[in-house]
This record gives sequence, structure tokens and C-alpha cells, in this order.
Amino acid sequence: MYDAILIEKTADGSQARLTQIDDAQLPPGDVTIRVAFSTLNYKDALAITGKGPVVRSFPMVPGIDFAGIVEHSDDPAWKAGDRVVLNGWGVGETHWGGLAGKARVKGDWLVPLQAPFTMRQAATIGTAGYTAMLCVLAMERHGVQPSAGEVLVTGAAGGVGSVAVALLAKLGYRVVAVTGRPAEAEYLTRLGAAEVMDRAAFTSPGKPLAKERWAGAVDVAGGQVLANVCAAMRYRGVVAACGLAGGMAVPTTVAPFILRGVTLAGIDSVMCPEPDRLEAWSRLARDLDVRHFAGLTQEVALADAIAAADSLLAGQVRGRIVVPVAPE
Ligand code: NAP
Repeated sequence: MYDAILIEKTADGSQARLTQIDDAQLPPGDVTIRVAFSTLNYKDALAITGKGPVVRSFPMVPGIDFAGIVEHSDDPAWKAGDRVVLNGWGVGETHWGGLAGKARVKGDWLVPLQAPFTMRQAATIGTAGYTAMLCVLAMERHGVQPSAGEVLVTGAAGGVGSVAVALLAKLGYRVVAVTGRPAEAEYLTRLGAAEVMDRAAFTSPGKPLAKERWAGAVDVAGGQVLANVCAAMRYRGVVAACGLAGGMAVPTTVAPFILRGVTLAGIDSVMCPEPDRLEAWSRLARDLDVRHFAGLTQEVALADAIAAADSLLAGQVRGRIVVPVAPE
């Protein structure tokens, strides 16, 4: 038996609790992994609190990502002892996830732990950091270079935002970080932000086109914030949109797209094909300064992950939450 968070359906929604499960309860899959670290992402917090329709079947072990050691494999690609990382593929939504002592998944969903990262570091990056890298790759593919001008990161003190700021700064961009928490300005400057802006500047309806400022943007907010970001993109600027922390509906117009040639690049980490995942992880190894890791991580025990989900949704968490399940 080992500890697990289990989300069960209730009459008025769902309820998460810490319990114990055993191997016989694990879902079908060809690789069984001892989870060393899982993490709490925004989506995990929605699943645990029941505040978003993340869980598609009950009962569910949440945890959209983990790093661990293969215990048993029927997939020839993996053998006992391999160190692996999983991000997405519906794990923690339709298939039991990482917030448990063990996980059983399809071998195709795993990627090898990227050298030189430790499992703790891979968990610190987690789905949030890997998504931040997908955003940077999308900006690059659409031609945004540091010489093109300033880049904006919204939700900058959160998980995706923190890693995006650190990555873009290391790559030589002038990064402007948007936060609703002015008290995190020093943290964001340490990660490499050249300037910190108050989120309030982005939350009121603006004109379809504003003064051109941003060559690129990583947006985790969606909603009105994304609309205002699009309006202030420079000619042929690129917005990598990955989140909805500020809302689903985007009250924008076509003006930025048809008059300034702005590209709105949608980012999905869940079903992202393997070559792109491997590219993202190898670029993280190259472009993320590991000296930032201590500053952007807090560790929360499995037993405390349920409470931490509330803080995360309340926007009170800085950077990333790592859950050491069975650390080495
Ligand atoms: P997180 O750590 O909770 O960070 C979210 C941040 O958004 C908060 O820290 C806050 O940053 C900002 N924020 C909160 N409420 C806001 C509001 N009303 N308006 C504007 N900004 C707000 O979450 P995360 O794990 O980084 O995820 C961020 C978003 O990306 C979520 O929507 C998540 O679902 C999405 N995501 C998508 C993918 C994908 O594959 N597309 C993958 C990972 C994450 P400040 O306090 O600094 O303002």
C-alpha cells in the first residue's frame, strides 16, 4: 500500500482526500513507475478543488506530471531502473496521475529524464516549465529574436510565467513581466525581468489597436489580458497563448491579426507530439539557469497538497510547487 490523493464524485461535485492504494487498483498500462516527485500545476489545483471540469472519470488520482523510476515494464522501450518523466496525455484527468506512490501508464507517454537534470529539478520544471519552453519555441519558430524588441510574460510570478521569464532573459530578450503581485517584483527581477508591470494595466477593455510595443508575448491569462496584449503587439509580433488564469473568453478584434500581421500561437502541452517534447526538454537543459531553481520552488508533502491547491488557485503561490512523494 502507498499514499495517494484520490478525488471522488460527491452529490454536489467532487472531494479530494489522502488515502492508500495498492498495485491492484492502478489503471491498465504497460509501465509501472515509482513516483519520486509529482507537482501541483494550475490544472491539478482545478482538479483537486473541483473548481474546473478537469477530472473526466471518477475516482481519479490527480497529478498531470511526475518524475520517477520504472519498476516494471512490458514496453521494450523501458526497463526497470530507468528514470522517466511524464507530462500530460490526460494523466490526472482521464487516467490516474502522479500524486500517488506509484503510477501505471502507457510507455509511449514517457520521456527519459533529461541530463543533467535530477528528478527533483525535472519536477521543478514540470508541465508548467515544459509549457513555458513550448511557448518560447513557438515564438522562435515564428521568427521572434531578441533583436526584434521587448517580450511580455503575463502571470509572471506563477509556474509557467516564472520559467518563461527565466528562459527568455537567459536567451537575451528584454523581458517585461506582468504580475498582479507587486510584492514579487524583486523575485521577477532576480529571474531576469528588466521591468515589472502591474496586471491592472491589462485588465480593462482597451482599443482594438494600442501603441505597438511587444515583439513577443507568453500569455497564461487569456481573457481581457490577452486581448490587450494582442492589441499592443508590434508588426508581425507573436503571442504564445497557453492559459486561462484570467478567463476563457477573449474580447478581441481581428485588427491586430489583419492589420499588424500578429500571430496568435496556441500552445498545448497535453497532446504535444513526442519530437516537440524532446526538443523542449533538451532546450530546457540548455537554456534554463539551474541557479534559479531554489528560488522558484517550494516543496509540499503529499498530505498537504490538497490545501496547497487552494492557495495556488488564489494566486498566492510563487513559482512552482513540487511534491516529493518518494524522493531519492
Ligand atoms: P499558476 O502557477 O497558478 O500561475 C498562474 C498565474 O496567473 C498566477 O500566479 C498569477 O500570476 C496569474 N493570474 C492569476 N489570476 C489571474 C487573473 N485573474 N488574471 C490574470 N492573471 C492571473 O499556474 P500555472 O501552472 O503557471 O498555469 C498558468 C496557466 O497556464 C493556467 O491557466 C494553466 O491552465 C495554463 N497551462 C496551460 C498549459 C497548456 O498546455 N496549454 C500547460 C500548463 C499550464 P501573477 O500573480 O504574477 O499575476
